[in-house]
Amino acid sequence: MQAEKTRKSTKRLKSAKELNRVVIEYYQECHEAKRRGKPLGWMPPMNGAIELCYAMDIQPVFPENWSPVCAAFGLTPRNFEITDGLGYSRDLCGYLRNITGYVHGDMHGSHVPLGGLPEPVMLLSPGGGCVPVMKIFHILERRFPQAKVFYADLPQVAVEDIQQHHLDYALHEMGRLIAFLEEAGGSRLDMDRLKEVVVLSDKACALWDEIMTYRRNIPTPFSAAEIGIMFVMVTRQGTQTAVDFLTAVRDEVKERAQAGIGVIEHEKLRLFWDNIPLWYNMGVFNYFEKMGGVVVAETYSAAWSLRLDTEHPLEALALKSLMSYPMVSCVSVKKRKEMVLKACREYAIDGAILHRNKSCVPITLGQMDIKRALEEELGVPSVIIDADHMDDQNFSIAQFETRVDAFMEMLYERKGIE
Ligand code: SF4
Repeated sequence: MQAEKTRKSTKRLKSAKELNRVVIEYYQECHEAKRRGKPLGWMPPMNGAIELCYAMDIQPVFPENWSPVCAAFGLTPRNFEITDGLGYSRDLCGYLRNITGYVHGDMHGSHVPLGGLPEPVMLLSPGGGCVPVMKIFHILERRFPQAKVFYADLPQVAVEDIQQHHLDYALHEMGRLIAFLEEAGGSRLDMDRLKEVVVLSDKACALWDEIMTYRRNIPTPFSAAEIGIMFVMVTRQGTQTAVDFLTAVRDEVKERAQAGIGVIEHEKLRLFWDNIPLWYNMGVFNYFEKMGGVVVAETYSAAWSLRLDTEHPLEALALKSLMSYPMVSCVSVKKRKEMVLKACREYAIDGAILHRNKSCVPITLGQMDIKRALEEELGVPSVIIDADHMDDQNFSIAQFETRVDAFMEMLYERKGIE
């Protein structure tokens, strides 16, 4: 296969192909909510606010998740141009650059897929994320001055350092968020309903973990080329839709694993991908296949699943609001290194691809430490690929191919593959 600068991935799972329907229905639901006058809140993912919204009949919308959709539909260059014209630096996070350009352009023009995003009634910024996430919401506040704004200033604490006083504070902020949603959304939080939503959210996480476990099989039945299924973990946590979709994926992956059906016929090398995928070119995950390589695990996918204490839903969501972001970023290099090493052991990884992501410093930090630890502690070699999760101008396909080909040849030699 000849790689291209922008390309969709080749998918093998029937259930993963169903994702298109789930994506379309989600955006239809957002537009329908707007038409019916249902309160609609824009928010970052990974913080426990999604479960509150679904429990309180508020429609959650994710500008961050909209960026991969724009990248997949080729809308990103136009959005970047608008952002550049506004004077923002090209070195900023691609999510920030994309959403800034999108909201300052024609949000519902004929070139915009899925009808675009319906304008927000509320802007929810529950904190705990990186600086660009915070700045995205400052930009949105200026762009949509009529929207009601909630802001919480949660600390970034390494997962292993979270103490009771952090939890108490997060719980207090959760209480403030509920009071805000009740007033702005006009309905009281029903704790029984919240419990139901948290149970569904936890079920989705359990299914996600199970799906990931089958990827340990040799050959693996599921590769990173299908990782777009993570859409439901971002936008649908706490709904029956997520549970039904992931159940179908789990059943198919399990069946393939039990039947010994791999992603490709002759799996020779098992690879790990660190950092966010290239949303404009998910096809790079298939590039390794020509030499029998399959990406069987990634750092990014691990961050979307966090089991919840369903007996204590509010406390569970408060903990989630503290834990989600440090699980994916480098709040603790030590923890992230441990996560990568653990995954490489569990998934029998032969080599790691470290995506040095130009526009995401929080996740790229610490990669040299990870590279060294992989080699010294596990004897797993790695290669650094310079790219960007959103901007294809920061990605050279020729350099990618040259580095990957040389890396794969070195892995062949190490494993004694003919
Ligand atoms: S974690 Fe990285 S990709 Fe995500 S918003 Fe922050 S800078 Fe951007």
